[in-house]
Amino acid sequence: MLRTHKMNLMTSLIPTTVTSKATSAVLPVVETFHSVQGEGAWTGTNAFFIRLAGCDVGCPWCDTKHSWNAHRHPQRLTADLIAEAKAANPAIVVVTGGEPLMYDLSSLSNGLRTAGLRVHLETSGAHPFSGNFDWVTFSPKPSKPPHKSIYLQVSELKVVVAKPSDLSRAEDHAAQIPTDAVKLLQPEWGTPGSYSLIFEYVLSHPEWRISLQTHKFTNIR
Ligand code: SF4
Repeated sequence: MLRTHKMNLMTSLIPTTVTSKATSAVLPVVETFHSVQGEGAWTGTNAFFIRLAGCDVGCPWCDTKHSWNAHRHPQRLTADLIAEAKAANPAIVVVTGGEPLMYDLSSLSNGLRTAGLRVHLETSGAHPFSGNFDWVTFSPKPSKPPHKSIYLQVSELKVVVAKPSDLSRAEDHAAQIPTDAVKLLQPEWGTPGSYSLIFEYVLSHPEWRISLQTHKFTNIR
């Protein structure tokens, strides 16, 4: 019964904008902000974040659940987002979410690159790939399998680990990405023991690295 309720809740949160994949002159935006990248291979890098609204993946530990319902956030012109990013003069622009691949990202990513900006994407890969990025962070989630189009695009695989089975899931995804992609294991923030799990794993699997959410330690955005 509870499971049914959860499924109904998830269905109600799926934004209708997901059906407008061809329309990218406007995108639903939760927030934009200028900070430093807190996790992954580019940790510590001056970054302008564009957090798009809408996600149908449903991770139970999600720390951005307010982004799930795209209808609760304004539609913004991609031209305005590009101008705002350019004005911030960051080292990188990070397009994140929510799940940004619910939308056609061609217009936004091409516009940012035309403006001379380096553009990164953070995605679960749960929808078909679109856009033109300098770096793609692929963070697959067990609650919704990735679309196969993501694998050849991956610059960085980042798997959140809460339990031992997440490590075998990480290896399954790692077998499908380019051989030069960075492979990262990240402890699930709220799960005791998750860090020691990946610490021991990395000691015996040197091809993997640990990613820490430094923005949570330092209490920055
Ligand atoms: Fe949250 Fe990201 Fe999972 Fe969507 S894919 S539920 S935004 S953690």
